Amino acid sequence: MDINTKRITVDYLIIGSGLAGLTAALEAAKHGSVLVVTKARAEDCNTRYAQGGIACVMSEDNDSFEQHVQDTLVAGAGLCKPDVVRTIVQAGPERIRALQAWGVEFTREREVNPESAGMDGEAYHLGREGGHSARRILHSGDITGRHVSDVLIARCRENPRIRLLEHHMAVDLISTRHIEWQGDNACLGAYVINTETHDILTIIAKFTFLATGGAGKVYLCTCNPDVACGGGIAMAYRASAEISNMEFYQFHPTILFHPHAKSFLISEAVRGEGAILKIRRGNQYVPFMDAYHPLASLAPRDIVARAIDNELKRTGQECAWLDITHKSEEFLKARFPNIFAECLKFGINMAHDLIPVVPAAHYCCGGVRTDVNGVTSVKNLYAIGECGCTGLHGANRLASNSLLEAVVVANFAVQHAVAQPDPHSEIPLSMIPDWEPGDAVNSDEQIVITHNWDEVRRLMWDYVGIVRTNKRLERAKNRIRLIRKEIEKYYWNFLITPDLLELRNITSVAEMIIDCAAARHESRGLHYNLDYPPDPENLAKPGKDSIIRQPLKSELRFE
Ligand SMILES: Cc1cc2nc3c(=O)[nH]c(=O)nc-3n(C[C@H](O)[C@H](O)[C@H](O)COP(=O)(O)OP(=O)(O)OC[C@H]3O[C@@H](n4cnc5c(N)ncnc54)[C@H](O)[C@@H]3O)c2cc1C
Repeated sequence: MDINTKRITVDYLIIGSGLAGLTAALEAAKHGSVLVVTKARAEDCNTRYAQGGIACVMSEDNDSFEQHVQDTLVAGAGLCKPDVVRTIVQAGPERIRALQAWGVEFTREREVNPESAGMDGEAYHLGREGGHSARRILHSGDITGRHVSDVLIARCRENPRIRLLEHHMAVDLISTRHIEWQGDNACLGAYVINTETHDILTIIAKFTFLATGGAGKVYLCTCNPDVACGGGIAMAYRASAEISNMEFYQFHPTILFHPHAKSFLISEAVRGEGAILKIRRGNQYVPFMDAYHPLASLAPRDIVARAIDNELKRTGQECAWLDITHKSEEFLKARFPNIFAECLKFGINMAHDLIPVVPAAHYCCGGVRTDVNGVTSVKNLYAIGECGCTGLHGANRLASNSLLEAVVVANFAVQHAVAQPDPHSEIPLSMIPDWEPGDAVNSDEQIVITHNWDEVRRLMWDYVGIVRTNKRLERAKNRIRLIRKEIEKYYWNFLITPDLLELRNITSVAEMIIDCAAARHESRGLHYNLDYPPDPENLAKPGKDSIIRQPLKSELRFE
């Protein structure tokens, strides 16, 4: 692969460098040439921020695959695909061993509880999180994501078949529409912009893997890093792929509430170790979760997030509080070294002080609709990790199931692709046009981008957040349509920039969330609409996926 030209041909194009993308790259490199494009530095991804760990049943002595499956199905509120859940859960241990073979290390019991050394200190220390009926979360201290990301990036960099192109952002997928091909809608690669020079490359690939992660930046408050703009979902939509269940956005209940802490998450594992959520009453701090769920502070995330939202709205307070002061400083430092240190930076000693927390947008349960192999409705296009929607999470993701899905489905997708016949054998690739800016000129008013960027995120937070109503959704719908039209006009008239592309993507994803939310006339899982109070009889029945798809001919720059 010659990457010094504007036109690159490769076997496997992987868009995104989180756990899903890097796993796919390492597996695909066993079969051909691999190009990973990632829009910022390789380490800029949601994966890096994961603290809690990876849910996986490594031994059936005190736990079982079936229990993990059942916990996932219960959290998913009637919308998980049971066969997909079972397949992913059972594939977990083999993928954990693959991660270990690449160099990932998981915390052992003796590292957290020194007194266990003589017993089974070599056993994994397993964390517990909300909705899990057993301790089954493998972790690397409380920086699982950072460790996994560092190890996989190192393995990719040293692999001669993998080329990692940082600061390159996919603009749009190239498909058979671009060459007016009469056969199936198939993906042929992607146009990719160098975010520093703004040059646009034409990347032609046999198989393209979207591994672009989530879309937290659609909301004003999020614990996602800046790269999480839903780019893969928006590009797939424009390429006419089916998109599913976008109304199910998970809000993490406990983000550190401090003016200088940028979206720092207090892992659910802290509640797994016994932390209690409290609200201020006069001079006292009192537990409140008992009133909302039998599992109290360990209830599933959506219930905790809604409960906090309700308590804050009811009392007018700015934040709730997490109390783990019954644990010793030694234990907390050993179990949560990163969280402990981060809190201390802001003057909070977890062993003595309560931690101020608020909910924020965290995880996109919907995404590009796929089967368990990451196969989308567009040929030769796979969606893996958070940008895909396999049916594992249903209406609500069980904590720590997303890293599991990323590592399992990325591998399945590669194995599926390598078993396909060469997709390029009958397609005239020379007909694929390079990017053509047409009459576009430099933007005259950059303010349009910054203004709309803020407006989209605020309207999503205010109208399409944790608790929704029909009226709020209607307002959001009207506003987002106007903004989308304005951006489309801007997009065609001015030369593209990464900022404009991200705005276009978050607006498109916001519209998908609103449309799916408005079409769902029930409250289920993460989607809570006050106009449709939860109906136990309805919830006992399996739910229906929302599926949206843009008709083929609409968004074609080369028409
Ligand atoms: C604070 C936090 C804590 C979490 N804790 C846990 C946990 O403990 N356990 C768990 O299972 N899950 C956790 N999650 C969720 C989990 O981290 C993610 O779902 C998972 O890492 C997603 O992996 P991914 O590879 O799909 O995407 P990501 O890791 O987000 O990677 C996406 C990549 O795509 C790139 N990209 C995006 N758009 C483009 C584009 N247009 N062109 C080129 N590149 C692009 C990004 O730059 C990035 O490199 C947590 C998430 C957060 C934010």
